[in-house]
Amino acid sequence: MTVITTAQEGASALAEVIRGAERILAFTGAGISTECGVPDFRSPGSPWMVNKPIPYEAFLASAEVRREAWRRKFTMDDHYRGARPGRGHRALARLHEEGRLIGVVTQNIDGLHLASGIPAERIVELHGNGTYATCLDCGLRHELADIRPVFEATGAAPVCQDCRGPVKSATVSFGQAMPEQAMRKALAMVAACDVFIAIGSSLVVQPAARLPVMARQTGAELVILNGEPTPVDAVSNLVVRADIGDVLEAATVPQ
Ligand SMILES: [Zn+2]
Repeated sequence: MTVITTAQEGASALAEVIRGAERILAFTGAGISTECGVPDFRSPGSPWMVNKPIPYEAFLASAEVRREAWRRKFTMDDHYRGARPGRGHRALARLHEEGRLIGVVTQNIDGLHLASGIPAERIVELHGNGTYATCLDCGLRHELADIRPVFEATGAAPVCQDCRGPVKSATVSFGQAMPEQAMRKALAMVAACDVFIAIGSSLVVQPAARLPVMARQTGAELVILNGEPTPVDAVSNLVVRADIGDVLEAATVPQ
């Protein structure tokens, strides 16, 4: 394991790894989006964690809880409405354009990888997506722009126009199972990659902690790019502890 703590040296080392790679898998967490103004909602000490998260069961059980969930959802959205892909997202989009990126597995719900130009089929959103909503009964997609004015006018939690089922932000709630299809797709990408780059994730919760280790076990080179140490550092090939945007931009922009 090599540990580098300056952005410039980290970028050179990462650029070297990228040059030799044909099937890069990027795994991203909140750290890639902080420069875009998206708060790290789930981090300890985040103002969003003062309210205990609403478990999935409670959401299903009560219209009152659904109203509260939607009230909080729109309050949070106001804090990152208009967020645009940052240097890290754009760097990954460049790797996609060069044909070196097999996919992005993300813990983020901000939709910024899609906004950066990486096609949806290359993106696995383990925690879902907060930029739209779905009916929990029939799966129909609902747009937040349609839901919000009605919610603000009536104060009632939205229901599906087709089946009257409860409509929820398309994120994975506490207590809600990780989507199976997303997990399967993530595992297939892990098995197929030759380089796994974990970016801006503390790699503590599952499956974030497990996927890089699996990639390493199947012979991929493992790079960790994060501001803080992670539990996976010890088994990785390269650890860069520096600013994520600085490192990814310098490592991917042609010199
Ligand atoms: Zn429905």
